[in-house]
Amino acid sequence: MSNQREKVVVIGSGPAGWTAALYTARANLSPLVYEGAVPNTPGGQLMITSDVENFPGFPDGILGPELMDKFKAQAVRFGARVVSENIDRVDFSSRPFKLWAGETEIQAETVIISTGANAKLLGVDKEAELMATGGGVSACATCDGAFFKDQHVAVIGGGDSAMEEANFLTRFASKVTLVHRRDEFRASNIMVDRAKANPKIEWALFKQVDGYITEEAGFGALKKENLVGVRLKDTQTGALSEIPVTGLFIAIGHKPNTDLFVEQLTIKDNGYLQTQPGKAVTNIPGVFAAGDVQDDYYRQAITAAGSGCMAAIEAERFLEELGL
Ligand code: NAP
Repeated sequence: MSNQREKVVVIGSGPAGWTAALYTARANLSPLVYEGAVPNTPGGQLMITSDVENFPGFPDGILGPELMDKFKAQAVRFGARVVSENIDRVDFSSRPFKLWAGETEIQAETVIISTGANAKLLGVDKEAELMATGGGVSACATCDGAFFKDQHVAVIGGGDSAMEEANFLTRFASKVTLVHRRDEFRASNIMVDRAKANPKIEWALFKQVDGYITEEAGFGALKKENLVGVRLKDTQTGALSEIPVTGLFIAIGHKPNTDLFVEQLTIKDNGYLQTQPGKAVTNIPGVFAAGDVQDDYYRQAITAAGSGCMAAIEAERFLEELGL
């Protein structure tokens, strides 16, 4: 056990965590950030994203990992301290709160949870590589749709996200094939009807992705694989077919990273942390939550950063009221 008693501990290192760290650092609270252990992708979902073109302030776009490096450098510049470990256990039953990273116990007056959510992936061969290199596979149509102007793309899933993304992608793509493993949808009728009425959307039902077809592009250090098609397997007959898509958007849901907190904090039915409307406040005073771990709706880097700022200001005021 260490004797550390921290004013602010931030768990997680995506846009929400670094922004919370920046603001609390600039408030002289010397936050301690648990950024996560390599290889568990410190930096969150942006570390597996290539070009980010919708983060204000970067008119030419920026690579996801580079953006996260900048977030981190800015927080560190003002005094955030960073530990490259995971928090494995927490006890929020009384203050100071207790957290454990392996054998190390940390005591904290306030905790800001920004552990994010992960898009569920298909686990098909080459998927991670194609996502990380901008090779044509993405889990975010809002972020990457504009790269596929006049191209044929596919969307995987049968929920509201898949319908919404398919509709959204028709703004750019010449054709969108919606691939779903059965012929019934979790999506609401209105969303399905809207997609069905869209002449640019084609349906591939009872189909599951069986493989990515890629081609090598570029040369030297810039050499990479690009998606040129998808092999589909019929879920009823097992028959294989191919569609010539250059983009594929996985929309099969997200999993918020709340496993550490399920016993201690209020969790919504869909698994996300409950915060008070318009606030970064959880059900335990002094424990705040920001970013995708509590956001099942917007899920954007900029909204995560905004809620990280909110959590920091809440923590600062909480400490001030306690005279700390
Ligand atoms: P979801 O409702 O859980 O739907 C996930 C879809 O992905 C399902 O159709 C599921 O198929 C499919 N799927 C899951 N794992 C798969 C796999 N390994 N391979 C192939 N397909 C797979 O998730 P969501 O669409 O992200 O929606 C999440 C929540 O957000 C919902 O409550 C939704 O209503 C809400 N939402 C609302 C809006 C809106 O109102 N504008 C927009 C987006 C999301 P099966 O059905 O066969 O299981």
